[in-house]
Amino acid sequence: MAKTEISTLGEFGLIRHLTANLSVQQPSTEKGIGDDAAVINPQRWASKDADVADMRLLVTTDLLLEGIHFNLEYVPLKHLGYKAAVVNFSDIYAMNGTPTQITVSLGLSARFKVEDLEELYAGIRLACERYGVDLVGGDTSASMTGLTISITCIGKASEKDIVYRNGAKVNDLICVSGNLGTAYMGLQLLERERLAYSNDHRSTMNEQHIAAFEGREYLLERQLKPEARRDIIEQLRKAGIKPTAMMDISDGLSSEILHICHQSGCGCAIYEDKLPIDYQAAVLAEEMNLNIVTCALNGGEDYELLFTCDINDYEKLIPLDDVYIVGHITKPEYGTNLVGRNGEEMALQAQGWQAFPSEK
Ligand code: ADP
Ligand code: MG
Repeated sequence: MAKTEISTLGEFGLIRHLTANLSVQQPSTEKGIGDDAAVINPQRWASKDADVADMRLLVTTDLLLEGIHFNLEYVPLKHLGYKAAVVNFSDIYAMNGTPTQITVSLGLSARFKVEDLEELYAGIRLACERYGVDLVGGDTSASMTGLTISITCIGKASEKDIVYRNGAKVNDLICVSGNLGTAYMGLQLLERERLAYSNDHRSTMNEQHIAAFEGREYLLERQLKPEARRDIIEQLRKAGIKPTAMMDISDGLSSEILHICHQSGCGCAIYEDKLPIDYQAAVLAEEMNLNIVTCALNGGEDYELLFTCDINDYEKLIPLDDVYIVGHITKPEYGTNLVGRNGEEMALQAQGWQAFPSEK
């Protein structure tokens, strides 16, 4: 069936079509889509634990470009919409805050039709529903080059709860949630299949690829449909733990822990044998002659949380679900090191995702 040209609805018709019946979940959203600007009432952020004056507004934004950040040959648009929203929520959680509203801006080349955008928005809506976030605006424009998605997310946090990257101190424990390198292995699997089939298929992957993915759905899910770790933030809060530093792992553990160490003026020891690695990811890495430790350190797109905690919180940390202690913070003179299985030390290097790869 032929898809519908965007011109049949026009820009306003398209926006109305995509954003019809949006539910408002946040009491602070006084006006969403439909006027020149959305209206948000921060007074509604106050709670029994936090006075209005203690509340802070968090803002983060993320730009996704086709061909740079995603490949529509194997990324379904619904998944892309979901992921584009969730990666922003992840940044707000990484400040120990709660995401409340997003705006979505799109650049669309002529290739994209109404049905494609319905898929994209189905993913964005699902993410918003699951995380209790309101879609309150955006912008839409024609583009010369593929699909561009920029999402801005607004969040809230009580000033005393906010966790920055610069608070780590000597002897703090270094923790990560979930597992590392799995999203990267999912991408390797997708790339391998794309290349294997690129001769006989010109369009999106289909059922014929599924055999190669059997038993490896989790790897694909980690790449295509990541989740933000709201559950970890909630667990930490319930356990009465406030991390000393925190960020989400989008570019790989190595690169992120180096940010925390530089900003906090300290060093670190990360233990290779403590890195949480998924079994299927390890099996695939072996099959593809990749070093799973390198993948775990530099893979990126895990959207797990990396945080440091006071050593006195050790007892409270142990019962937490899906949280792993991978090392500790040291004096800056010690450097930023990976400690291997035989105690050998190697300087950690940021080899993860680079926004501007060098031309060499
Ligand atoms: P303006 O001309 O002031 O930029 P628009 O006509 O672009 O306004 O937008 C009208 C309304 O639709 C605004 O509330 C805007 O936030 C919303 N909007 C525009 N594009 C999108 C989009 N891609 N997703 C969600 N809301 C959108
Ligand atoms: Mg506009």
